[in-house]
Amino acid sequence: MKEAVTAPATPPPPPAPGADRYLALDFANSLLTNPGGEVDLLGTPESASRWLAERELAPADGRLYEPCTDRLRALRGPVRALLAARVDALVPPWQALAAVNAALTEAPSAALLGWDEERGLHRTPAHPSEEILAHALAVLAADAADLLTGPDAELLAACGSPPCTRFLLRTHGARHWCSTRCGDRVRAARAYAKRTQAKAAAKSAQHP
Ligand SMILES: [Zn+2]
Repeated sequence: MKEAVTAPATPPPPPAPGADRYLALDFANSLLTNPGGEVDLLGTPESASRWLAERELAPADGRLYEPCTDRLRALRGPVRALLAARVDALVPPWQALAAVNAALTEAPSAALLGWDEERGLHRTPAHPSEEILAHALAVLAADAADLLTGPDAELLAACGSPPCTRFLLRTHGARHWCSTRCGDRVRAARAYAKRTQAKAAAKSAQHP
């Protein structure tokens, strides 16, 4: 397997449109391809723990270990496969459906109701780290299922700016790219192609 770099040379672009509303979209996009190469935001237990904590899917002081990080990444492939199949209107791979269903049924996605003196009543993820992970996987799987079966599924798109591999919701009708950076890259490539074509045309006009 290709080793993904964990410390991107260029910082990752801001979240793709829709990733703020769908954790599953954000999760799918945690594996991204910058022009500099592949970046995995879940590449190490530390970065994966941070990613979950930032999305309140795990306590801030929680730490994943390697096997749990592997399990988290193992759900991402199926989620990406299901999003891609939906975008291209293809039959979803049954293995991807099975993986999402396994995550859905392994743990209740509901945060428990807890009480302590400091916070009073509050929602809290179930504890031991295994359970925290199972809970996070169930939430991500449930969110993927909601996205894929809800009205926003129609808006789902893959970024049209290679080598980018992020998904987005086309919140503006004409949106094709996940970020300004990706749009600029396509425009720059088009301008370059135009200039090269113009040059080639001028050359063949000089030397018919
Ligand atoms: Zn993009």
